[in-house]
Parts: sequence; C-alpha cells; structure tokens
Amino acid sequence: MNGMRFAGRTAVVTGGAQGIGAATARLLAEQGARVVVLDLDAAKAQKVADELPGGLALGCDVTDKDQVDTVFAEIGAVHVLVNNAGITRDNLLFKMPVDEWNAVLGTNLTSMFLCTQAAQKSMVQQRYGRIVNLSSRSALGARGQVNYAAAKAGVQGLTATLAIELGPFNITVNAVAPGYIATAMTAATAERVGSTPEEHQAQAAERTPLRRVGRPEEVAAVIAFLASDEASYVSGQTLYVNGGAR
Ligand code: NAD
Repeated sequence: MNGMRFAGRTAVVTGGAQGIGAATARLLAEQGARVVVLDLDAAKAQKVADELPGGLALGCDVTDKDQVDTVFAEIGAVHVLVNNAGITRDNLLFKMPVDEWNAVLGTNLTSMFLCTQAAQKSMVQQRYGRIVNLSSRSALGARGQVNYAAAKAGVQGLTATLAIELGPFNITVNAVAPGYIATAMTAATAERVGSTPEEHQAQAAERTPLRRVGRPEEVAAVIAFLASDEASYVSGQTLYVNGGAR
C-alpha cells in the first residue's frame, strides 16, 4: 500500500527481537529500509534480521553508553531511529526496591537519551532524521507502575524537547503511546497477577471502546507513518494507539 517509502534509508529499531519492535522492523524492511535490529538478546535479534532483506542484528544493552556508542559507530548513517526497547518491573510504591525503579527508568528512558545522542550525529550531518519513541498509556498513571509510568511520561517530555532542539536540522521526533498490546510483555504481566494471557486480554478488551486488545502490527503501522515523509510536518507529538481507551 505504501510502496517502498523507506528505500535507501537505514532504520535502527531497539528492542527489535520481538513484539512491537519486531513488527516494526518487518514493516520498515518490507517498505524498503535497511533495518538494524538492536537487542539485548542477540540470538533472537538475529532470527528477526535473517527474515529481512539486508537486515542486520547487533547485540546491545541500550542502557550502556559504551555499547550504544560502539554499535552506532559501526552502523554509520542512520535515517530512522525507533526507540522501542522497554521493560516493566511492577510493584506498589511501598514495596518497590530502588533497583526496580532504576532498571525501568534506565531501559525505558535513559536508553532513548543515549541512542538519540549517538544517532543524531549522522542525522544532523545529513540534515535528515525521523525518531519515534515508545511511550505508553501508562504515562497517564497506572497502579503498580510508578516506575514505568514515570519513565513513559518522561518519554513524552524528552520527545517534545528533542523536537525543539533537533527540528532545525530537519529531524522530526514523535512518540507513540500504545494501550494494551498482546505481546510477551503483557503476557508476563498476566502471569504476575495470577491470570492467563487470555483472561487478562479479555479484561483489557472490556475497558477498551474497540472491545479488543491491540496487535503489534497496529502499533508498527503508526510508527512507520511517523517515520515516513508523509508525516514530514509532524513533530513533538505523542500519538495514542489504544483503541480509544482512557
Ligand atoms: P517485549 O517485552 O515483547 O519486547 C521488548 C524487547 O526489548 C525485547 O526483545 C527485549 O530483549 C528488549 N530489551 C529489553 N531491555 C533491553 C536493553 N537493555 N537493551 C536492548 N534491548 C532490550 O515488549 P513490547 O510489548 O513489544 O513493547 C515494546 C515497547 O512498547 C516497550 O517500550 C514497551 O514499554 C512499549 N509498550 C508496550 C505496550 C504493550 O501493551 N505491549 C503498551 C505500551 C507501551
């Protein structure tokens, strides 16, 4: 439908080994991008990259500045950066250890600062870049997710500010904020609360006007739009992809 709108572009997808990241990597590659899948799980990232024409997988912990700088130096010019890697470590405030706070802030927020700082070098030089950051509906507040909600709200502030600082170089920066998407992340949440993925999804569907949970491909489509030239005058925005849920 959208043809080869990423032909000649290099796209980096962090956390691209599964879920929303893998769906995004597949869609960008289908539409002509040379996709680099960055993930902590190098073997799983390799499996995704193997399916993609010209795909490349690199093992990288996106919370580690040295690793991030090394992989971006190896990649060279980047046109599209999708800051997607994320984790949850849910707990109520009074039970949450500081290492769970730090891990979630590090993976969901600091990683975006590090990857964007590394990727902007080539983007500024070539006067072209598209950055899409993964926020979440949880940014609006979510019980048991004080760390995740703070990180994902932080992503929206980071996005708005990067759009201001990088705009003069023809770099757009936007965020998507998914609602409940059926992935390993939400399956793990179901398990943690003593539910099955099916039961947990059915409960989420009831709270959602569209009466179903989302699929990774439905988020990937919006990420690809924001990363494309069709969205050339959209910057600093957070787009909710949540089936109308509040
Ligand atoms: P997922 O758990 O299925 O995949 C996350 C990927 O990130 C994994 O491949 C994992 O190995 C990788 N990763 C984790 N820590 C990393 C690190 N330090 N360095 C490199 N890679 C790392 O998650 P998902 O459900 O596909 O979510 C993707 C993004 O979307 C996340 O940022 C998540 O917070 C966000 N999100 C998801 C949902 C949802 O309902 N699934 C809702 C809102 C937002």
